[in-house]
Amino acid sequence: MTGPAIGIDVGGTKLLALRLEPDGSYVADPEHPSPCTGPELVRDVLAAAARLSGPGRRPASVGLGVPGLVDRDGRFVFAPNLPGAAGTALGGALREAEPACRFWIGNDATAACWAEHTRGAGRGHPDMLMVTLGTGIGGGIVSGGRLIEGASRFSAEFGHMVVDPSGPPCPCGKRGCWERFASGAGLGEVGREQAVAGRAPELTRLAGHPEAVQGEHVTAAAAGGDAAAVEIMKRFAWWVALGLANLANLLDPGVIVLGGGLVEAGAVLLEPTRQAFFELVEAGEVRPPIDIVAAELGARAGAVGAALLAATSLPA
Ligand SMILES: [Zn+2]
Repeated sequence: MTGPAIGIDVGGTKLLALRLEPDGSYVADPEHPSPCTGPELVRDVLAAAARLSGPGRRPASVGLGVPGLVDRDGRFVFAPNLPGAAGTALGGALREAEPACRFWIGNDATAACWAEHTRGAGRGHPDMLMVTLGTGIGGGIVSGGRLIEGASRFSAEFGHMVVDPSGPPCPCGKRGCWERFASGAGLGEVGREQAVAGRAPELTRLAGHPEAVQGEHVTAAAAGGDAAAVEIMKRFAWWVALGLANLANLLDPGVIVLGGGLVEAGAVLLEPTRQAFFELVEAGEVRPPIDIVAAELGARAGAVGAALLAATSLPA
């Protein structure tokens, strides 16, 4: 008897799990907190899969999107945001516990990219990029209709492209990585700078104190029309567009899908990003336009994509 297809996004402190239904819809498990360290993560993943499979059934496939680098054997190689899981042989432990189950274990943003490609904002585009703007920057590449994972499955680590070698240090160990400028953390830094200098009183009002300004205060003030916040968003959008233009020059996508929490800002981010991208990408005036659109699947995209990738992967 064929069991269900399960997808799980490992969020650092919680698991977002769901079961794909034959008609393409999904049933979500309530959010479950998890310490997400090695043995506990294996235990909690298996528990979520069992809950969603139902009594007496075992999952046919489980896809797992994780925040970090995972090799072809499903071993965490590098997980700066999930230090307790680094080095864990997740794939080996899961396959031992569920030998008849197919597993796909990979990067969460890569999984989200596949979900947006097959059933979200990237539908109909065999060549697309997904870029997730959250605390950091992640992403995925689909080229010729195929997900590009790379030799070691470490592709699309867009956030760590260096855009300023003398820029601020990054948790990865280098300086001036793109995500230091174009992520939610980067937006918060610029907002704080302006608030501390007395140039953004509305941000100070929203945050309660200039030092407490975060990215979300900037997007909220910009959406409300505050001139200082709109100006900060424009500067920020230039940094977003700089990275996107570099990626487009390299990969020539038909569309770029922006995901992650920052995209909820909507037009105050998308419009200046499109404008700056047009100016920064090679031959912007004469090449076929590359649209930059917001992701459609929200916070469950990683789990949906992981479920789809596991369901269609070859038997383990
Ligand atoms: Zn970095």
